[in-house]
Order: sequence, then structure tokens, then C-alpha cells
Amino acid sequence: MKRAVIVICDSLRTDLITPSDSPFLTELGQRSARFASHAGVFPSTTRTSAASIATGCLPARHGLLGNTMALDEGDGLVCLSVGRPDFRDRLHRATGRTLHAPTMAERLDGAGETAIAFSNVSPGAAYFLDPDGYGWVYNAAGSYGPGRRPLPAEDGLAIAKGEAGDTVATERFCEEVLRRRAPALALLWLSEPDYTGHHTPLGSPAHRRAIASADANVRRVAETVAALDPAGERILFLVGSDHGMETVDQTIDLDTRLVEAGLKRAATSSDVVVAPNGTAALLYFADPKGALVGEVARFLETQDWVGRAFVGSELAEIGLPTDSAVQIALTLKPDDRVNPHGVPGHSHIVRDSLEPKECTGFGQHGGLGSNEQRPFLLASGSSFVPGVYRHRSSLVDIAPTVLQHLGVGMAGMDGRPLPRHPA
Ligand SMILES: [Zn+2]
Repeated sequence: MKRAVIVICDSLRTDLITPSDSPFLTELGQRSARFASHAGVFPSTTRTSAASIATGCLPARHGLLGNTMALDEGDGLVCLSVGRPDFRDRLHRATGRTLHAPTMAERLDGAGETAIAFSNVSPGAAYFLDPDGYGWVYNAAGSYGPGRRPLPAEDGLAIAKGEAGDTVATERFCEEVLRRRAPALALLWLSEPDYTGHHTPLGSPAHRRAIASADANVRRVAETVAALDPAGERILFLVGSDHGMETVDQTIDLDTRLVEAGLKRAATSSDVVVAPNGTAALLYFADPKGALVGEVARFLETQDWVGRAFVGSELAEIGLPTDSAVQIALTLKPDDRVNPHGVPGHSHIVRDSLEPKECTGFGQHGGLGSNEQRPFLLASGSSFVPGVYRHRSSLVDIAPTVLQHLGVGMAGMDGRPLPRHPA
């Protein structure tokens, strides 16, 4: 039986894969198809990326528009964290559905096959891999079997983010999921180096240790895959990241700036709602066709902390819907300066009132910066010819590649199966 195994090293940008910090990924890259022009999605946040990996669709089609989203639960638009364990249920109650596109788990279930995911990141990022419960999803906040049946605590994944939890998850993933349960699709989502990157400088000793821990966990999985399929004929093995990171420069309080400019009634008002997404933000409007959209857009044009604003029909250029309450998306100003550890790329970020914390000098992502948009992707097995692939690829190409390998239909996706030969 054919199988697919995916490992995601959250936030590992491709230029930080080095022989000293990630010897295994370096070596694996030399005997894999290495996709050198691989891009993330927008916003380049974990939860949106998880939905795009799971569905093969851009946010315009799957509908999960960021790490935060504004929902109207009856009292007007309010910004909520998508990461919280209850967001999936609140989204379903407010809109009647979760993702607008089927996940790999749903398509596999329709073909009589099973998907199992172990995720050591936020509950939201875990649950949106399979929000309607076709397969199995394990996360520290609660684990579910088919039908979203809660698993007893002793069967769950009681781990913390960081190296120790990632390693416990990896060892159990290898032994229980890959060797014993052997599902058609097994996915492991590691918290490192994202977890450490958010509270240390990129390239610092702590951040480099976090990269090394992800490298060691990928090695554990790769060795298990090699033991199960020495010829590399049955198991498609994909290793990658969801996005990279930039170094945080200034933090912009966008709510306050809009209030001070007379464009928003109050910090918590629903006329225009800021959904902060790290180095980007999405603006939701109570009246998406109203004059306020243009007034806010003209204000943003005058602000030197804005990188680029996408308004109305321009949202389609970055894979966002044009017919929702979101009418403006903006990236914050990037620059190429190198941080004290020699890592290039800075960006301003938008203050997140749901998680207010000081993070100047640490890693962040969400926008279209050249480093946060540099995830990596290595493919081996399934007749992938090793080499450097220059084709443009993206997170949405993962699902069609997996389904093609497993012989399951992939209609209605934005992505396409990855090529098997380098060009
Ligand atoms: Zn991430």
C-alpha cells in the first residue's frame, strides 16, 4: 500500500538550513528533490498555512484568513485568535461551516483511507488540518478521532512546545503512527524553530539549538521511513516548513492609529476591525462596500510604516477573497538589514492586543517579506529524482502531490502535483 509522510519544521527558513545547525537536512537535501523556489501563502501565518497544506487551496478558497480573524457572533465584528481551542466551534456557529474546501483527511476518508496528524503548535493550527474530523488529530489541548470524538487523556498528546515536547511527539509518531498504525497519510508538525524564534533573536545560540532539534527529529522520522521502505517506492516523504521569519523592528498599534486619524470609532469598535497577523494585518469592515474602505486606504498610503496595501479587487493578487468583510490587507515595511547574529531581514509588525508582548529583535512572520516567504521543501520516494528544482512551487502543491501519490482525486485545488524531475 502506498503511503505519505509529511514533517513540518515550523518557521524554518531555507537559508538557515546549514551543515553546522542542520546536518541531517543538509544531507537529506542532497539526496532529495529540493524545491528552491518554494513559497508560502498570505498571510504567512501557521494557521493559514496549515489550512493551505491540508486543502491544496489558497485562503481565498479555504477561507481561513489568518492567525486572527474577525467574526460576527451577533454583536458585530470582533477579532478573535484562531489559535484558541474553541475557535473552530465559534467559526462553525457563526458561519455554518469551518474550511470552505475539503482537506486531505476528508478526501482520503472518502477513498477508505486514514489520515493521522500530530501537531505541537497552537490548537487552531492543529485542528484546521482536519476541522471536521475525518481522521485523527493530536494536540496538547485535546486530541480527536474520526467524527471529532475526543480521545481519553491517556491517549492524547500531553506535551509542551519546544524541543522536549517535539521529541516526545516524534518518537511516538515513529513508533505508534508510522510503524504500528501505518495510515495512508501521517503528518508531524514540530513547534521548533518557531517556538524559540518568537522569543529569541534569529541566529542566536538558542535559535540555532532549536533548528538543530528540528533537524534531529526529522532524522528520526527519515530513519523510520527508510526502515519501512528501503527502496523508497511506497512512501512519499515530504519535509518542509510553513513559512520563514523576519526580525521584528517596530511594533505599530494600528487600532490606535486608525482611532487617532478619525477612521475608527474606538479601539474595540466594529466599524473597521484590525486582525493583526505579525508583519501583516487584515482589515474587516462592517460595511464592505462603504466609503470608509477608501478613506482608510488613502490614510495608509500616507504612512511610512506600511509596506504595501491591497484594497478591494487587489486582494485576489495575494490569494485572498474579494467578497468578504476583509477589504484591505497590508504588509508592514520590510528592510534588508542584518541582525546582530548575521541574519538578514527586518520588518515592522502590528500590535496584537490579544497577545500583547514585547518582541523587538525576535522573529515574526505573516507578510510577504522575502525571508518569511522562504519556506523549504524536500521530496523523496515516489520516483522524485534528486536535484535542485527551480520550478515555482508553493504550500498548496503539497496536497495534490500527496493525493496523486495515493491515487486519490484532487479536483478543485489551487495547487498542482510537484514535478518529479529537476529543471
Ligand atoms: Zn508557522
